[in-house]
Amino acid sequence: ERARLARLRHTPAITLDSVRIDLHANIELPDDASTALAAGATGVGLFRTEFLFMNRGGRLPDEEEQFRAYKTAVEGMQGLPVTIRTVDVGADKPLERLTLAELRHEHTLNPAMGLRAIRWSLAEPHMFRQQLRAIFRASAFGKVRVLIPMVAHLSEVRQIQEAIRSVRQQLADEGILATNIELGVMIEVPAAALMLPLLLRQVDFVSIGTNDLIQYTLAIDRADEAVAHLYDPWHPAVLQLIAQVISQARAAGKSVSVCGEMAGDTAFTELLLAMGLTQFSMHPSQIPSVKQRILRADTARLAEVLPQVLQSDSPQEAAGCLAHASAFGA
Ligand code: PEP
Ligand code: MG
Repeated sequence: ERARLARLRHTPAITLDSVRIDLHANIELPDDASTALAAGATGVGLFRTEFLFMNRGGRLPDEEEQFRAYKTAVEGMQGLPVTIRTVDVGADKPLERLTLAELRHEHTLNPAMGLRAIRWSLAEPHMFRQQLRAIFRASAFGKVRVLIPMVAHLSEVRQIQEAIRSVRQQLADEGILATNIELGVMIEVPAAALMLPLLLRQVDFVSIGTNDLIQYTLAIDRADEAVAHLYDPWHPAVLQLIAQVISQARAAGKSVSVCGEMAGDTAFTELLLAMGLTQFSMHPSQIPSVKQRILRADTARLAEVLPQVLQSDSPQEAAGCLAHASAFGA
């Protein structure tokens, strides 16, 4: 088993009909890069940087500390791409009360819909600039992309672009090399999915955060046990949004990945392949099993049943359609 997994690590993820799939890793701390490489990841699709900001007894990491963390991750990936997401604090990932009190934003009525992620970064411009500076400085050591969580407004994209311009200018003035790096946004609010063509004109890539996209589409708090039975990735509205985002991004020639839990769950591998997805990002431990399914998949056959899947009125029926077009059978 161990030898088989080791062999699998060096096997590229290519489907039966020769479509190459990128299996990227989701990481939380810089040292996770080695785990990602060992699992056979071909890049980091999501570096959740908020973990550098949490559980710190009230002191947040400064630019220097962030720079070292990002540089470690980037060097650890040995030239493979590293997608660094700016902090996604708030909601299920709160900063300590002490830290919040030091900043201006202590109280939020409904954390999931409040000042989280990019909203928090734009409300704390000093923190945002520090993080962007650290990311740009780390980009000198490898292939870095920057990813913004929870974008729902075009005005946010404009503010992000302006912050990036100004940080690059400042770094240039200091004589620090800051080449341009690709900018992407998470598609995890239904509004972002529905206005994708407008967003695609502004960014280089998108990444679908299914965890939040499901939460906000179905109005189901992802952390609330009482409604967990209604948290349904197979919900037709969810499938419709994901399929639409993947096909519109591809048509626009922009790279699109899925980095929510669905990407690492083998129950959805064929579904996402049927939708035309070629970039998955997941916990490193999930890479081998997802790769095994990809090696036995035929994307053309799967794509043929997609219209039926999207018309299904139950998860069982949708999964059944895919099973008929899959080596794993019904
Ligand atoms: C998501 O929402 O699917 C996602 C990848 O981001 P997070 O789980 O960190 O909110
Ligand atoms: Mg999210």
